[in-house]
Amino acid sequence: MNLQHNVPLQDYNTLAVPALARYFVAVHSESELQEAVRFSQEKALARLVLGGGSNIVLASDFDGLVIYLCMKGITLASSGAERIKVGVAAGENWDALVQYSLSQGWYGLENLSAIPGNVGAAPIQNIGAYGVEISSVLGSVYGLDVDTLQYRQIERSECELAYRDSIFKQSLKDRFVITHIDLQLSAVSAPVLTYPALVEALGEKEPTPQRIAETVRQVRGQKLPNPAELPNAGSFFKNPLVSETIFRELKARYPDMPAWATASGYKLAAGWLLEQAGWRGFEGEGELSGLGTYSQQALVMINPGRCLGNAILKLADQIKHSVQTRFGIALEIEPRVY
Ligand code: FAD
Ligand code: NAP
Repeated sequence: MNLQHNVPLQDYNTLAVPALARYFVAVHSESELQEAVRFSQEKALARLVLGGGSNIVLASDFDGLVIYLCMKGITLASSGAERIKVGVAAGENWDALVQYSLSQGWYGLENLSAIPGNVGAAPIQNIGAYGVEISSVLGSVYGLDVDTLQYRQIERSECELAYRDSIFKQSLKDRFVITHIDLQLSAVSAPVLTYPALVEALGEKEPTPQRIAETVRQVRGQKLPNPAELPNAGSFFKNPLVSETIFRELKARYPDMPAWATASGYKLAAGWLLEQAGWRGFEGEGELSGLGTYSQQALVMINPGRCLGNAILKLADQIKHSVQTRFGIALEIEPRVY
């Protein structure tokens, strides 16, 4: 195990927070992962399992062990006339997998194009975009149970996949390290065209999967900052899910408010709430200098000043407070805070 000390994490998180890891290890195999977890247990160290670092906020230096997952590999497990089963290791880049799948004629991931991060993290918040979530293609998840130090498989039905949520953020939080996943893809295209922004940009009724993927990439490119140029962690707050009563009260006050019916109530657009509260294109001053929100999408907090996590969380508190005061809605931060 190649254990490193006091490792700068600025290049390992897309918000570019300049925090340090007390210990850091890159793992390339199942046995290295077991060794790393055992080390953290013997030393009673907190663990941070790291993929692409695109959905975390480092509140301060990490006084524990960062385990950076580097396992690679994409394997065709089985292929029928319609169904294709693919196994993918946790350390593969998600978007590279989407592009590779398209090049092989394996469909189902096109709406999830251009999402940063690695494959191992994709089930954690059940990644989703443009009306598709990984839940629609996930087969099973395989990884290390840190309580037993044994590897085991978890079926999709046991993953408790929900809106930006899964068992890995709930009862298995910090207790299971995903090392690879199986995806059930299709040789037959089945376009999901439910988002107006995508439909408008496509401008055709029967696009190919390749065209959908390209269009998603273009639309995202226009609306979202590239973390390599402007550090960010994507949507900073989750879209709130509210009861029908709250939805009706708000809709009466704000007839233009976008909202979508869900199985248990209504989903509101957090980006719209922030924009109404005046946060779009915010540029911080004083203690918030170097921080802001993106000009094209208020929901994306940006960190051009490479500020520390405590300043990021201060701005998050101010935004939450203003949305609470104006709409009575308690926003939740989407990335995991360490
Ligand atoms: P990390 O940030 O490294 O980790 C996130 C969390 O998962 C951490 O708690 C970490 O410990 C845990 N984790 C990571 N890997 C594993 C593993 N193998 N086993 C166990 N735990 C693990 N998300 C969406 O859902 N849809 C989008 O459209 C989207 N767009 C984005 C756009 C931008 C510009 C950015 C910056 C982010 C966006 N995100 C989006 C958020 C993010 O990209 C995804 O959540 C992604 O899956 C995170 O992957 P990662 O490898 O970077 O995870
Ligand atoms: P958008 O298309 O402008 O839509 C704004 C919001 O409206 C989104 O949050 C989306 O919810 C919701 N929405 C739009 N059409 C909908 C429909 N037909 N049914 C249900 N909900 C609908 O959003 P955007 O900011 O440009 O992002 C595009 C997509 O990429 C979205 O799916 C978004 O979630 C995803 N994305 C996610 C992140 C992240 O970090 N999590 C970052 C960037 C983009 P949903 O968010 O639930 O889809």
